Amino acid sequence: MALLVQKFGGTSVGTTERIEAVAEKVCRFRKEGHEVVVVVSAMSGETNRLIGLANEIMEEPTPREMDVLVSTGEQVTIALLSMALQKRGCEARSYTGSQVRIVTDSTHTKARIKQIDEQRMREDLDAGRVVVVAGFQGIDESGNITTLGRGGSDTTAVALAAALKADECQIYTDVDGVYTTDPRVVDSARRLKQITFEEMIEMASLGSKVLQIRSVEFAGKYNVPLRVLSSFQEGEGTLITLEDENAMEQPVVSGIAFNRDEAKLTISGVPDTPGSALRILKPVSDANIEVDMIVQNVGEDNRTAFTFTVHRNDFKRAKEVLQRVADELGAREVGGDSKIAKVSIVGVGMRSHAGVATQMFEALSNEGINIQMISTSEIKISVVIDEKYLELAVRALHSAFGLDKLAVEEEAVKRS
Ligand code: ADP
Ligand code: ASP
Ligand code: MG
Repeated sequence: MALLVQKFGGTSVGTTERIEAVAEKVCRFRKEGHEVVVVVSAMSGETNRLIGLANEIMEEPTPREMDVLVSTGEQVTIALLSMALQKRGCEARSYTGSQVRIVTDSTHTKARIKQIDEQRMREDLDAGRVVVVAGFQGIDESGNITTLGRGGSDTTAVALAAALKADECQIYTDVDGVYTTDPRVVDSARRLKQITFEEMIEMASLGSKVLQIRSVEFAGKYNVPLRVLSSFQEGEGTLITLEDENAMEQPVVSGIAFNRDEAKLTISGVPDTPGSALRILKPVSDANIEVDMIVQNVGEDNRTAFTFTVHRNDFKRAKEVLQRVADELGAREVGGDSKIAKVSIVGVGMRSHAGVATQMFEALSNEGINIQMISTSEIKISVVIDEKYLELAVRALHSAFGLDKLAVEEEAVKRS
């Protein structure tokens, strides 16, 4: 008998039929004797619908009221799922984040979990009940409703699993595991049997939204066994592991992530003097705009160019800030492009292999794709390219690094 935390995402609870199917699945686990805590998201499209309503009233509603609004989506699904469980003779009780007492900080719309009171859940589990908890939400110390950022139900599930010392945290979604890249973009993408926390954190932060980044960080920190599976079909899914047990067979690149959410800004003709990077980027961060990649060109005639990327939603604001900076610094001009995309290759295998960057650049060059910016770390290489070529780039890299379904099958045949 195991204690399982099972999370079902928006598509998995998208209709009452789907909710009934989830109830069937959960009941089966109960009948096998497992203790189950279920975390659910809002029905698919609901969170976006609520945000849309808010924007009909005003462009930038206060974050506190946004949280009161968007947290309602999950309250609907916990009640419906509990009813569907009860209908099947499976005792269940629903709880909102504040009822469990998932205490967070007060950063509305992207709050962090500080503490969870697992007492109440334990009492229900001991009494043989399934505990159904609303994902994505919590309460701050002053009693305000908070939410954990888009995709935050993943983090609720992992946090509950850590608090309850669950045997496994299972994230049920609309794909049957973590793939080498988004299977909706590349047909030949392949499910990974396992991936390390380190790689999964990189994949998630570089754009693979299959798991919220924070949920993976949390699982790594508290050593929560984490698995991604399909709610629509049976299968073992993908296990997120500490170390890859088959390290000998570790491929150089495990996965490819991409992100269309960024925009690029360039300020050129900046006087090449100490402190200019600070004078450019400080006003940007003071405006609460997060900067991702940064490149400074080698100076010429005591002038230099400075390029960085921000979230696409912040593009207009960042450009306004930069225009002011340019005037103050006596820089030549401010330019920008919001039609860019970032493509990244990720793999712990890169640590022990030289020439990975060359191989990446070669694959892109063969397709005539121009690289605008590059950034590297120990286990990833990211490039910024024109958004038009994104899918072509992902496909080219996927096959260049031998990740295609067919390539791997052929390799297996050769070995056997
Ligand atoms: P949920 O609503 O269940 O939380 P999400 O939409 O948040 O589901 O996450 C699942 C989606 O993540 C998939 O439908 C898939 O398109 C996308 N995705 C992106 N990258 C990957 C990847 N490497 N492996 C699997 N799915 C991925
Ligand atoms: N419903 C929230 C969202 O759409 C949280 C989640 O689904 O994880 O972002
Ligand atoms: Mg999600």
